[in-house]
Amino acid sequence: MADHTHIMVDLETLGTAAGCTILSIGAVAFNPLSGMIGGNFYCNVDRASCEAIGLKTNPATVAWWAQQSVEARAALEANPYPIDVALDAFSYFYRDNDGTHLWGHGGNFDAPVLESAFIAAGMDLPWKYSAARCTRTIYELAGVAPDRMKGVHHNALDDAINQAAAVIAAYGVLKPAMVAKEAAHG
Ligand SMILES: [Mg+2]
Repeated sequence: MADHTHIMVDLETLGTAAGCTILSIGAVAFNPLSGMIGGNFYCNVDRASCEAIGLKTNPATVAWWAQQSVEARAALEANPYPIDVALDAFSYFYRDNDGTHLWGHGGNFDAPVLESAFIAAGMDLPWKYSAARCTRTIYELAGVAPDRMKGVHHNALDDAINQAAAVIAAYGVLKPAMVAKEAAHG
């Protein structure tokens, strides 16, 4: 088994709900217990290839992108791949790391948006349905937040790395409580 089986995925999109167009996929493998961060993944996605399989572009999100940083927008332009190629590459990354957990920033965002793209493309999900985890819940419980000043906010890979670091910090806060609870029940 690989050392970093938790996968943080971050999507940049043209919508805020399942079924929306994906512009980029960033991911990083990590181990929240050891605190180690492993390999990473980044792929830009061709918008037309998403729309061709029925994914929807939300004009409000297109307008929102126009307000974001030049750096974040520029990162989306390089080498876009057709959505099926991008999903296949992400599947390879997930399996190559023996993925056991798929983290996203919000239970209603990255995992369901990515899942809807796999379904629209007629492809199998690489993760088990029970693998999905939500960063917002653990951040709230632990009282931590991702550092958005590192790298470029809304760059999918920078976001994924910063979110993974914050999950590691959250485990650091919550682990003593978990260990104490186990000891009390032991
Ligand atoms: Mg992001």
